[in-house]
Amino acid sequence: NYNFSAGPSALPEDVLKQAQQELLDWHGLGLSIMEMSHRSNEFVGVAAEAEQDLRDLMQIPDNYKVLFMQGGASSQFSMIPMNLLRGKNSADYINTGDWSKKAIQEASRYCEVNVAATTADNNFTSAPAQHELKLNPDAAYVHYTPNETIRGVEFDYIPDTGDVPLVADMSSNILSRPVDVSRFGMIYAGAQKNIGPAGLTVVIVREDLLGNVLPATPALYDYKVNADADSMLNTPPTFGWYLAGLVFKWLKAQGGVEGIAEINRRKAEKLYTAIDSNPFYSNPVATPVRSWMNVPFILANADLDKRFLQEAQEQGLLNLPGHRSVGGMRASIYNAVPEEAVDALIAFMQDFSQRHG
Ligand code: PLP
Repeated sequence: NYNFSAGPSALPEDVLKQAQQELLDWHGLGLSIMEMSHRSNEFVGVAAEAEQDLRDLMQIPDNYKVLFMQGGASSQFSMIPMNLLRGKNSADYINTGDWSKKAIQEASRYCEVNVAATTADNNFTSAPAQHELKLNPDAAYVHYTPNETIRGVEFDYIPDTGDVPLVADMSSNILSRPVDVSRFGMIYAGAQKNIGPAGLTVVIVREDLLGNVLPATPALYDYKVNADADSMLNTPPTFGWYLAGLVFKWLKAQGGVEGIAEINRRKAEKLYTAIDSNPFYSNPVATPVRSWMNVPFILANADLDKRFLQEAQEQGLLNLPGHRSVGGMRASIYNAVPEEAVDALIAFMQDFSQRHG
């Protein structure tokens, strides 16, 4: 079977097998990593290695802290203003869809939000160009969503925000292709797509932005306090952290982010080609910003949606319904979804359209 879930999503089979094997007996100790103290040498070693592997994969510069937090990407929507306003009272947000909107909504509780650009006019099927961004030079930071998971819109450039720190919600495209981390003040991601199990949240943040939180910020939400405690202020999500470490090792074995990017590009290109070349299917997103990770599409005849999904499922092509807010279909083709899965989906789509077109 192939799993096209948007998240929590497919994990690499090799990783699951290794975790299964280690579940009863981690490294000959006769117990699992889940059952050990997070302060043990064993777990501290696992944690440090995962961080180092992530640093290697993304070439994270030394002046960035890497935090392994809890609460999902959504909890960052409020932690970001708590930590990064730094005495300022406004922040810029680029609105390219549902997740940007949620980030804006939450930030509005803490500061003035300037929407620097929105693509609401075209129903969030594009990304604003650099010259369309109405950036405020006094903003505390600029927030954007490089990949909008629901409608499948992925920026094809990194916004230039001058001296204002850029904050990116990379939940659905982290580790999918190389990015220059030094262009960002902060990058964050819920783990449940390209990293590991839900519950873990990765935060990569430039050191000089830390240490000036809103007065009522809980210690657990303070990036500096977390960084100083190596993300072990309290019991961290140990299983998620361990599994993320296995995924990072797996990714290194795939040739790292550069290696997986080649495969991701091929997977996405062939799926969009299959959609564009067949009038039975369509995708409304502007070509340069079509996501490599989330590919929504609709059928020319929506009456066939149910049938499409049912037949797909019968053929082992799982979790293809679009997000409940937009309907249609969506194939999420994250790092762990093999190219054969995309080939199988394309073959099914062609067959289905021949039978029903
Ligand atoms: N941001 C983006 C881009 C997402 O795709 C998601 C979840 O799908 C979230 C945020 C919310 O993540 P979480 O459920 O970890 O809070």
